[in-house]
Amino acid sequence: MIVMKFGGTSVQDAQAIDRVAAIVRERLHERPVVVVSALAKITDQLLAMAAAAGAGNREMALELSRSARERHYSTACDLLGTHAFEQIAPELEADFNGLDELLRGVVAVGELTPRTTDTISGFGERVSSKIAAAAFSQRNIPATHVDSRKCIVTDSTFGKAIPQFEETDERLKEKIKPLLDRQRVPVMGGFIASTREGIPTTLGRGGSDFSAAIVGAGLNATRIEIWTDVDGMMTTDPNLCPDAHRIKCISFEEAAELAYFGAKVLHPATLLPAIQKNIPVLILNSRNPKNEGTRITATAPKSRNIFKAIAAKKRITVVDVVATRMLMAHGFLKSIFEVFANHRCPVDMVSTSEVSVSVTVDSNESVAAIAADLARLADVKYEGRKAIVCLVGENIKSTPGIAAKVFSAIPDTNIHMISQGASEINISFVIDEDAVPDVVSRLHRTFFSQVDPEVFA
Ligand code: ADP
Ligand code: ASP
Ligand code: MG
Repeated sequence: MIVMKFGGTSVQDAQAIDRVAAIVRERLHERPVVVVSALAKITDQLLAMAAAAGAGNREMALELSRSARERHYSTACDLLGTHAFEQIAPELEADFNGLDELLRGVVAVGELTPRTTDTISGFGERVSSKIAAAAFSQRNIPATHVDSRKCIVTDSTFGKAIPQFEETDERLKEKIKPLLDRQRVPVMGGFIASTREGIPTTLGRGGSDFSAAIVGAGLNATRIEIWTDVDGMMTTDPNLCPDAHRIKCISFEEAAELAYFGAKVLHPATLLPAIQKNIPVLILNSRNPKNEGTRITATAPKSRNIFKAIAAKKRITVVDVVATRMLMAHGFLKSIFEVFANHRCPVDMVSTSEVSVSVTVDSNESVAAIAADLARLADVKYEGRKAIVCLVGENIKSTPGIAAKVFSAIPDTNIHMISQGASEINISFVIDEDAVPDVVSRLHRTFFSQVDPEVFA
């Protein structure tokens, strides 16, 4: 079997979902499980309505919900025609009424909890998957809608829940496998899951890719396909450099580094389940389905270019900790990292001197609270609006003088931190966020004006 995941833009309207149905029909002989995201921008809209309700703005919350309802009804009606739409309309209506009730409840209690936020933000995938399943059935695809919350089990870290793989795999075998055995096409929402007790959770923004990988690994898929709005993984974000090249093939390790350091085309956790089961992952374009896309597999092909791609991760804060009261005593680093661990805050990059440590964290983490705790140990300052730029490629291992080549391409850039060697396939550094477009295009021009046709298109 294979897993086919379609992102928000691939299911943004009736025309897009119609294209998706045609793509799925071509693969029926491979026994696909289909995972869909919410319609494009709907998750943002749901989070905005949750925030409005939490702030007591009932009218705004319900108005946002009303426009989401209208968009889903008209998408479903365009896809299905009036008659078939009437068959699923009562279910959609009950879902949206439930959403409104929840929003009113949040306004009434005057508090938005992370748990309620997850129930609201996951609503988009609940309804998009029902609409896609109905559209497939009408187009002679034997689709069965499956509630992902009954299949994917997580802990209760709301907003970024962690899958419990053993239980999830059992449930997938119990709920999905029999459908595949009966030649059905299961259609599930990405991003959403629930705890063992059945409380809804989500896997973090962009998490539908992760859902697809969890399903693929759980059912031993022969391939996981991530269908999106670009031709594959590119040498950098095509929004930053329109002349970015498609990468034809890349290793799990390289792609994982790129995803972690900002290549939004793939959710950073996606490759972990695929690596464990050695399942190839393909990135494909639902608007250009004949294109070969990018193939991500265990071993990287040899390339004449030093790097495979450049990624940039914005919204980074640099935290500087200076031990003025004593020189780096034994156990100092441990006590600093304990503070980050206590706040469950992941650290991306670290650099140390004898008396100081600098680390980078995502700006949306609770930096002020972390700094307050660190201040008990040392002097602390932190600064946001930074970005990590990361160049990735297996050839870094075997090419001398890489850092000189990179930094001489951007000689006047203010570099705040540098890291090389940790993974051997990545060189990364921190710059001001505003400098990202210029720095990335200059690096791209330097390293990708000529590309190896075996590896890049
Ligand atoms: P989906 O909704 O299908 O999950 P996303 O918006 O999450 O799609 O990811 C696709 C987007 O990722 C592209 O439109 C592109 O702007 C961005 N992107 C960032 N870095 C890269 C890269 N290296 N290669 C391809 N796309 C990238
Ligand atoms: N709809 C979710 C989001 O926008 C998940 C996803 O699209 O992957 O974050
Ligand atoms: Mg995505």
